[in-house]
Amino acid sequence: MRVLVIGAGIAGLMVARELASRGASVEVADPRGPMGGATGAASGIVTLQLPEPPLSWSVESLDLYESLGVARRLPGILVAPGECIGGLLELRYHGVEAGALSPGEASRLAGLPIEPPNGWGTGYTLEALVDLGGLLSRLTSPPPGPIRPVEADPWRALRDGFDVVVVAAGAWTPMVLGAPASEVAGSALYNCEASSVRLPGGSLEAILYVEHDGESAYAVPEAPGRAIVGDGPNRILGEPGEAAPEPGTPYEVLEELARVSPVFEESYPTSSWAAPCMITGDGLPAVGEWVEGVYVFAGLDGYGLMAAPALARLLADAITRGRPLPASLDPHRRARPWSGEGPPPEPWRTCGS
Ligand SMILES: Cc1cc2nc3c(=O)[nH]c(=O)nc-3n(C[C@H](O)[C@H](O)[C@H](O)COP(=O)(O)OP(=O)(O)OC[C@H]3O[C@@H](n4cnc5c(N)ncnc54)[C@H](O)[C@@H]3O)c2cc1C
Repeated sequence: MRVLVIGAGIAGLMVARELASRGASVEVADPRGPMGGATGAASGIVTLQLPEPPLSWSVESLDLYESLGVARRLPGILVAPGECIGGLLELRYHGVEAGALSPGEASRLAGLPIEPPNGWGTGYTLEALVDLGGLLSRLTSPPPGPIRPVEADPWRALRDGFDVVVVAAGAWTPMVLGAPASEVAGSALYNCEASSVRLPGGSLEAILYVEHDGESAYAVPEAPGRAIVGDGPNRILGEPGEAAPEPGTPYEVLEELARVSPVFEESYPTSSWAAPCMITGDGLPAVGEWVEGVYVFAGLDGYGLMAAPALARLLADAITRGRPLPASLDPHRRARPWSGEGPPPEPWRTCGS
């Protein structure tokens, strides 16, 4: 079976790897080279502080990253309203280490003083950091097949003799398919952004999260003394060219965070990264057949590193063994009220967001 994978981000590279391991002859096309899209901008966090799905995808993806030797497990310290800390206990039903933590213990693990305000608490979950440079080299040396620096077109590829084309072009997917974004599982394009702020010292041995009114900030050991402020109001929904709502600035977010914990009082923004992302109408990815011979693997929003490896296995099984994919991921579905069957819409929200 000759397969062309369009896009060499985490989705494309992972499905190419899975297909090659099942005996397919795979080629990958990407004018920006491997990980030149949103994947190259990612922070590398694999969180298990999630509802189901995507929790099981995240757990399976973490196993795979560990087998490739590119993941490091760390305690994720959560500073959040009390009900959020209580909610962490649910993760134990899924076999994920999680629970409450005293502020003293949280401060020791994070290497920073943490003083939660009244009604707030501290807790922990298991988290992991993926080394993106290591991942790139594990996925490309040797590559699953030739990776060509070209823009590809699925219809032309079918005429050129490919049996199957997988469109894993991230936010470019609707354009590659020649469909409006809203036609691909009711999706929209947006700017996936995170801002980096400097923290006043500290030697972090944990991923530190602070949740606040829909905003979150996290600090990671790979960048000691820095925190990454989440994407809440920085989200720019809509089609390219459409007037976008005014994004919140990292300064505004920091002001809020400083009210929550003195850790953030002296922080200031140092940089920000953004990359185009695609979100579907119900928050689940779009994975499945578009037309005969052409598959879609996109809509991973801000959690592609967590979901892509597990979903790549499902997709490769569907392509090579005819195993059906969950209807809830069908790229032709539209944004619609939840019928009560399958996973509920917007399952990605964590407490506070
Ligand atoms: C700042 C930031 C931080 C993030 N942090 C995390 C994190 O910590 N954990 C996490 O799980 N997720 C994170 N994410 C989200 C994650 O990066 C994305 O969900 C994921 O990278 C999407 O992968 P993808 O392969 O679908 O898309 P992309 O990585 O964007 O890949 C798509 C590729 O398709 C190529 N392409 C487009 N058109 C064509 C064409 N015609 N022919 C060939 N190729 C084409 C593009 O060049 C691109 O390389 C973050 C994102 C951002 C922006």
